[in-house]
Amino acid sequence: MTSTLPNDNIKSFDEQITNKLISEIIRDRIKSKGTRFSANDNIADFINPGELKVLEKEVASRIKDLLKSLVIDVDNDHNTQETAERVSKMYLNEVFKGRYHEQPKVTSFPNDKNLDEIYTVGPITVRSACSHHLVPILGECWIGIKPGSKVIGLSKFARVADWVFSRPHIQEEAVMILADEIEKLCEPKGLGIIVKAQHYCMKWRGVKEPNTSMINSVVRGDFRHDISLKQEFFELVRQQSSNNNY
Ligand SMILES: [Zn+2]
Repeated sequence: MTSTLPNDNIKSFDEQITNKLISEIIRDRIKSKGTRFSANDNIADFINPGELKVLEKEVASRIKDLLKSLVIDVDNDHNTQETAERVSKMYLNEVFKGRYHEQPKVTSFPNDKNLDEIYTVGPITVRSACSHHLVPILGECWIGIKPGSKVIGLSKFARVADWVFSRPHIQEEAVMILADEIEKLCEPKGLGIIVKAQHYCMKWRGVKEPNTSMINSVVRGDFRHDISLKQEFFELVRQQSSNNNY
């Protein structure tokens, strides 16, 4: 039987594909599972192989419409002729890749030697964008670990931080999400994270304060309960702090 009836439920899969934008198809999949898809959520599990390329085209066409609404002559202005395609690629594969791409592979190892001394890694450069204006947040991050049952390589902290921060965020939530991911990967007995960042929505627009930064932290497990351990964490980070400006 051919699907001639005007009912979406009996349309073939291909018909549904051709009638819907890829963003709608992905959104429907997420909604059918009852999963959240806020700006700082990763949605890679709902994107099938090859679909990111299709999404890239859809986003480019929307950005082109945005440029037209801004009354920019995209047909004749040689500077903006391919801006829509560039911005689409930049969002999906660079600055917001942490939404659309899988987490980088991180292998964990059993903590056979029962290491239990704390260590810190940092500064790790973090780059994000505020969810409110989509302008950059640039800063540094320090991660402190009291090892638990598993350990991961030092460079992996930087990879996971980059993946988590490469999404539209507010800084307070970014730190919590990073803490959740690190807990999943190495189940530490204690975890501390500090982020110091400059927000371009304060530097470039709004109040235009060029030197203001925001620092926030999260401490979990033994770092939360043991005051001396928490102090040791903050002291180690103080020694690692750099004076980089963004
Ligand atoms: Zn903002």
